[in-house]
Amino acid sequence: MATTASPPAAAEALLTDGSTVTIRPLRPGDHLAVLDLHAKRMSPGNQRLRFFAMSRRAPEASADRLCAPVREGFLALGAFSAIGLPEEQLLGVVEYDVDAQRPMVAEIAVAVADDRHHQGVGTLLIEHLVHAARNAGLLIFEADALAENQVMLKVFAALGLRVERHHTGPEVRVVVWLDESAEEYLTTVDERARSADVASLLPLLMPRSIAVVGVSARPGSVGHTVLVKIRQGHFEGPVWAVNPHAETVAGLACYPSVGQLPGVPDLAVVAVPADRVPDVAVDCGRLGVRALVVLTSGLDRHQSERLLDACRRHSMRLVGPNCLGIAQTDPAVRLDAQFGAVVAAAGSAGVAVQSGGVGIALMERLNALGIGVSSFVSLGDKYDVSGNDLLQWWENDQRTRLAILHLESFGSPRAFARTARRVARTMPVLTVDAGRSAAGRRGAASHTAAAATPTVTRQALFAQAGITATSGIGELLEAAALLHSQPLPGISGKVAVISNAGGIGVLAADACAEAGLVLPELPAPLMQRLIAELPQGSSAANPVDTTAAVDAQALAAAVDLLVESGTVDAVLLCLAPTALGTDPVQELLAAPARRTRPIAVVRLDQRTPVDYLTTHDGGRLPCYADPQSAARALAHAADRARWLAEVPAAVPRPEGIDRDAAEAMVAGFLSRHPEGGWLDPEVTAQLLHSYRIPLATSVWATGEHDAVEAAGRLALTGHEHRVVLKAYWPGQVHKSDLGAVRTGLHGRDAVRDAYRGFVRDFGERLTGVVVQPQATPGTELFAGMVQDQVFGPLVLFGMGGTAVDLLDDRAARLAPLSTVDIRTLLTSPHGSPLLFGYRGAPPADLDALEDLLARLSVLATDLPQLTDIDLNPVIASKDGITCVDARLRLEPRPAPDPYLRRLRRLPDPTQE
Ligand code: ADP
Ligand code: MG
Repeated sequence: MATTASPPAAAEALLTDGSTVTIRPLRPGDHLAVLDLHAKRMSPGNQRLRFFAMSRRAPEASADRLCAPVREGFLALGAFSAIGLPEEQLLGVVEYDVDAQRPMVAEIAVAVADDRHHQGVGTLLIEHLVHAARNAGLLIFEADALAENQVMLKVFAALGLRVERHHTGPEVRVVVWLDESAEEYLTTVDERARSADVASLLPLLMPRSIAVVGVSARPGSVGHTVLVKIRQGHFEGPVWAVNPHAETVAGLACYPSVGQLPGVPDLAVVAVPADRVPDVAVDCGRLGVRALVVLTSGLDRHQSERLLDACRRHSMRLVGPNCLGIAQTDPAVRLDAQFGAVVAAAGSAGVAVQSGGVGIALMERLNALGIGVSSFVSLGDKYDVSGNDLLQWWENDQRTRLAILHLESFGSPRAFARTARRVARTMPVLTVDAGRSAAGRRGAASHTAAAATPTVTRQALFAQAGITATSGIGELLEAAALLHSQPLPGISGKVAVISNAGGIGVLAADACAEAGLVLPELPAPLMQRLIAELPQGSSAANPVDTTAAVDAQALAAAVDLLVESGTVDAVLLCLAPTALGTDPVQELLAAPARRTRPIAVVRLDQRTPVDYLTTHDGGRLPCYADPQSAARALAHAADRARWLAEVPAAVPRPEGIDRDAAEAMVAGFLSRHPEGGWLDPEVTAQLLHSYRIPLATSVWATGEHDAVEAAGRLALTGHEHRVVLKAYWPGQVHKSDLGAVRTGLHGRDAVRDAYRGFVRDFGERLTGVVVQPQATPGTELFAGMVQDQVFGPLVLFGMGGTAVDLLDDRAARLAPLSTVDIRTLLTSPHGSPLLFGYRGAPPADLDALEDLLARLSVLATDLPQLTDIDLNPVIASKDGITCVDARLRLEPRPAPDPYLRRLRRLPDPTQE
């Protein structure tokens, strides 16, 4: 039983009303607060529901139990508001007590102050208790409640976990299964997280009043500029300026300090010098401000900590520091609180950027396109509000129809991939991925990590999460213009190109092929109908060449024929400027823009990379200056269509996994090596064994005699009775390059010679040898896992063996892998045909490979400290698979639990 897990650390989280609470284990010092909660802040009626009887002693006894020193099998958590401040309050408590007879089962109880019911305190406490209980190896919670305690019974029923009720007289016994893989639980936790998150962002993104703190009288300063912009933008509510040294700024009266404001602003925009920021934050918090946008940059670690601390204690959400500001174009608010030289036009793109400069560029170009912005947030250093928060806000916001993120890193990769996948169901989510190779940044220690996510793979991963990832801002806007104005294409990727200049049609056809689109041949009847419409000399193959003589009517008719033919999923119309009277697109614009299939237009004489043509009914057709841009935009749309059409598949849970054993090994290793590192061969073998990952029998030997003896035994199972000897020392990377691998050894003498060779070559360095049976020959593959900074855990698969780094033929999918993901991964590497019976060879054992990938996926999600798994090679033959070389790396940093709702902590500088 693992109930010895250390008590959880304090964590901050949001209640349903968006306020922040701290959840932490109770301690002896909390006795008074706990007693007060039970005796004074719960009505007699609620006390009876909690204790089943009216008893004077019950509150006292509860406080004694909950605040006792730490003891095994017992945990009590409290939810505090305004922690550490004079007005600190304990809102509720929850406890579990492990059943002495049944070590996987714990009795739980919850109590919440009367005036804090219906704010999600109980639910949040139970979620945190579930998290701690799982970490301690518990499987079941049981609770007794009076049948009339509907509030409590509803809380349990709505948890999202499997719950059973047993009625015995006036009491109900509730049984809750803490099942890990309960997708339903994750979904319900997400749901609660989202509504709390949106509530907490209201004062930030829909403020009713604003203060600008640090408004210098000097025009051109940051505070001054923002104040002027807010006023020019006709913000709907009161705006106050704080400056102790000036009477008025920009015609507005100044207040000397936050405490002296005539009202309590929802939002404060802070532009004071760095050393003043923490105090201003505290002042704002004391006054009751609910959100801060900190424009100031250059805060040191201490100042940063104090800033975030003030925000958490006083329930303020924080944007920044070091940001450009925010904008909200909702007519009920009209807030332009950013100092970029651009005013966001009201529209439908939600924009969140890390870098202010990119934000300005995006706003400008969205304005120019007429897409406009619904809300804009420059996240800056992202101490609190992150891309995830914004995604959830937009998901909830009626005005946002496109989500645009430009982020250099994601606070919580797992949460990001999850949220994005959900939001992308309702609107396009676009981001720029410049292929900066986030995984590569930390890759120095591991060749796996460095090779994990090259640009091609990252594209595939974004695609798997439903995100439209582009290589730059230009491409992002080009894709946005299409996604925003046109219906989605079908999933086939088939396109018809039609142009009034053959050469341009050819260029466009090439661009389409390069973007991964297909130009199918057109069926004969369609070609005949096209020819009938088009001028003499036209060609109706795909690309269709209308000749320069085509008139507007014929062109529109031809485009409509293609759109309605059902042969293609999109039409790309390319026009070279001619001097032949009317504009050839005119007739097309007379028809409604929204057809059943998307149309993209290319006009080589256009000055901007992408623009809209407006149809007579006010609809829009995206028009590009370059066929490549149009083709890429169409390809992004086709990817999105394909993603939306995917049916979610089941995630397999392979048999025989001993997670507890693996967790114990991880804990053991990390206590011996607190800084983490690569595992030695013995622990590696044990850990893989606990997930039944087929590692070749590997015997660890430290002397010649042991090695020869082990070889004698292993030869019995080796191919042609042969064995393999590998020299080992800590820190080695490529063994065979150094002559540390001897394969195909036959007989005692050969083994002895090999061993002596190692001693001669590696001397002192050698700590031992690994003896393995020679594997049945087969295809050498690579399989593995890496924790990516952007995407979270990835499972990798590809061609393996010692030449692998040269070929770099690997694919990756986001874990957890569904059955479909596993299939996709198996077939993704270029070399994968080798596995399916290439040139008459028997196919490899595909079931075993699928099982291996499923196990790696579970391992990756179960053990967040496992940062790299590198199985190379896995040798696959028709009779089975075996891994003969495995490297595993652990890091102490636990990845955030996706099941746990909590706010971010300051990024650890050592991890950046
Ligand atoms: P490294 O990758 O560090 O160079 P490996 O243990 O992967 O060392 O061994 C290198 C190569 O030796 C493998 O790619 C494989 O071809 C061969 N090899 C290693 N172990 C075995 C084995 N038990 N059976 C058959 N071939 C093996
Ligand atoms: Mg190897």
